[in-house]
Amino acid sequence: MKHNFGAGPCILPKEVFEEASQAVLDFNGTGLSILEVSHRSKEFEAVVVETERLVRELLNVPQGYCILFLQGGASQQFAMVPMNLLPEGGKAAYLDTGVWASKAAKEVKKLGQVEIVASSSDKNYTYIPKDYSIPTDAAYFHFTSNNTIYGTEVFQTPATNIPVVVDMSSDILSRKIDVSEFDLIYAGAQKNMGPAGVTLVILKDELFGKSGRNLPTIFEYEAHAKAGSMYNTPPVFSIYVSMLNLRWLKAKGGVEVIEQENIIKARMLYDEIDRNPFFKGTANTEDRSRMNVTFVMENPEFEAEFLELAKERGLIGLKGHRSVGGFRASIYNALTITSINALVDTMREFEEKHK
Ligand code: PMP
Repeated sequence: MKHNFGAGPCILPKEVFEEASQAVLDFNGTGLSILEVSHRSKEFEAVVVETERLVRELLNVPQGYCILFLQGGASQQFAMVPMNLLPEGGKAAYLDTGVWASKAAKEVKKLGQVEIVASSSDKNYTYIPKDYSIPTDAAYFHFTSNNTIYGTEVFQTPATNIPVVVDMSSDILSRKIDVSEFDLIYAGAQKNMGPAGVTLVILKDELFGKSGRNLPTIFEYEAHAKAGSMYNTPPVFSIYVSMLNLRWLKAKGGVEVIEQENIIKARMLYDEIDRNPFFKGTANTEDRSRMNVTFVMENPEFEAEFLELAKERGLIGLKGHRSVGGFRASIYNALTITSINALVDTMREFEEKHK
C-alpha cells in the first residue's frame, strides 16, 4: 500500500479515481467518454451546475457571490486579482507569508503599487505576522490562508474595512469558513477540491469592473460569470472529477466533519514530532498548518536514511520543499488516519533503531 503525502497534485479518494476512470470509458451511460463529450452538451452542463451547487452548499456561500471555474491555476489569479480590482494609480495591501504570497504581490507591481503590510521572511516564513495595520486607502487586502511550503496557516481572518482577497489553494474545503468575511476567494483545485486544471474563484458580484481597466475579455471575472464559466471551453475532466470529489465530501458529512478529522490527523502527527527526540517541527506552534506538516531532524545527517526507510514503508512525497529542507507531510482531506499511523510508526521505528 502507498501512502501519498505529496503536496499537490495530491491524494484524492480511491472511490473518486474509480468513478472517474469509469467515466473515461462511458460517461453516465451516454456511450461516450467524458473526454469526448461537448462542453455544451446537456450532460456536461448538468455537471457544471452540480459542481457549483456543491461548492455553494459545502462552503455555505451566501447570495451575492458567484462561483467560477477557471484555468491558469492560482498563479493566473495572482494577476487577475489586481487586473480586476486595482484601479489605475491605485494601491493594494499584501501580507507576505511565503513564496506564493510574494509571487502574488509581484504581479501587482506590474499594474500599480503594492504595500507589504507585514512579512515573516526574517525567520524563513516560520510564523504568521499578527500585529500590523492594513491601510484603509488600499483597493483591497490580500493574504494566503495556508502556506503550503512552510506549513503555516492563518486561522483568524484579519479585520479590515477594505475588500479581503484570499488565496485558499491549500486549505479550502478542509475547514469551516465564513465566506462573508471575504470578497474574493481563489484556489487552484489540486489539493482538496480535485485534480489540477481547474481553479475555483468565489467572488462578490459587486466587484465586477471595479478596476475600471479595459481588460482582455478572458481576464475579466464578469465575462466568465455571465457565461456561467463557459466563456470558452472549460476544463471538462477536471471539473467532472472535482464534482465527484465534492460529492464524496458531502457524503462524508461535509466540511464540519472533515475538519474534525483533519484536527485529529494533524494532532497525531505533531504530537509525535514533539515527542520523538529525533524530529522537530519548523513552524511556530500556534501557526501550525493542519494541511502541510513541516519538520526536520535534530541531526540532519539522518534525513536521507529516514527518507529511505519511509520509502520502504510505502510513504510517498515526504521530502520537504527545498526552501525549508527536511520533510513535509501533506495531510489533505483524502489522506486517512491509517496513513498518519503508518508515518508515526515509521518515525518510532527509526527512533528505536537509533536510540
Ligand atoms: N498558492 C498556494 C498557496 C499554493 O500552494 C500554490 C501551489 N501549490 C499556488 C498558489 C500556485 O498554484 P498554481 O500552480 O495552481 O498556479
